[in-house]
Amino acid sequence: MKVVAISPRGYCYGVVDALTLAQRVAADPRVPRPIHILGMIVHNRHVVEDLRRQGVVTLDGADRGALLDRIDTGTVVFTAHGVSPEVKRRAEARGLTCFDATCPDVTRTHAVIEDRVQRGAHIVYIGRKGHPEPEGAMGVAPGSVHLVETIADLQELELPEGPVAVVTQTTLSQWDTEELIAACRERYPQAEVFNEICRATQLRQQAVAEQAGVTDLVLVVGDERSNNTNRLVQVAREIAGRPAYRIDSVEDIRPEWLENVGTVGVTSGSSTPTELVQQVIAYLQGLPSDGSLPAPSARAQVRLPGAVRRGSGVPPSAGSA
Ligand code: SF4
Repeated sequence: MKVVAISPRGYCYGVVDALTLAQRVAADPRVPRPIHILGMIVHNRHVVEDLRRQGVVTLDGADRGALLDRIDTGTVVFTAHGVSPEVKRRAEARGLTCFDATCPDVTRTHAVIEDRVQRGAHIVYIGRKGHPEPEGAMGVAPGSVHLVETIADLQELELPEGPVAVVTQTTLSQWDTEELIAACRERYPQAEVFNEICRATQLRQQAVAEQAGVTDLVLVVGDERSNNTNRLVQVAREIAGRPAYRIDSVEDIRPEWLENVGTVGVTSGSSTPTELVQQVIAYLQGLPSDGSLPAPSARAQVRLPGAVRRGSGVPPSAGSA
């Protein structure tokens, strides 16, 4: 099997920084226990399992405020997706030691929202319902940030008179977002537009659009809850016009997908451990020419980036402890 390893792919700077911070917190004996993460630090269950082995408990659920109510003592880490100022304030008021792994690109989005709301604007926020990033962004200015996922949502929106700013989630499809932004401009011609799709997301999507054309099939390695992973599948199908599937690991590859396939493109979401992708590539490259599909060997051992020795300190600039 010929394999096109689409590049760039995999870990982005925001994920690497978040994982490094979480592991430094776990390794530092001065950090109060227990250590909880408010939601999945990044959307990948292999990462969550690895952190659990390091003594870090992930609380999973849709509402960060409700998750916080389950922590009485110790330390809390906020995830790369960002969290509302109210959740941060409540965590500090409860006496928890707080560390913030919010990606700088998400932080910048919060700053844009705060600034424009202070100037009297309402925000049309283009994002995914149920995803933690919009939850945090809407919490920056409750009542002034209006989540829109589809054109129909936009049509139903009734904003009061006054300035409008359009702001996007960081991990959306560039192509879908262009369409929604165009609809926003039509509805609110005076609106300021801040397309906040991060550079890492853009580069990974463009790579699929440009490099998947020579493939017969695209496999995207990543977690089902990872928005940027799901968008890569969408780009492969809708922009590159190739059949595409998301897989969690090598074990998910189905024989029927590979029938009459000579070249497979492989990419991964920005929260997917590198070892899982390498295993998929090696497995496909090693397939026998008789069309059979041998069982993959045991799943690759995941080693998170930024691993530190136990007892190492957390850098003073990290977190708000
Ligand atoms: S995908 Fe973009 S916004 Fe999300 S963590 Fe990575 S760099 Fe930050």
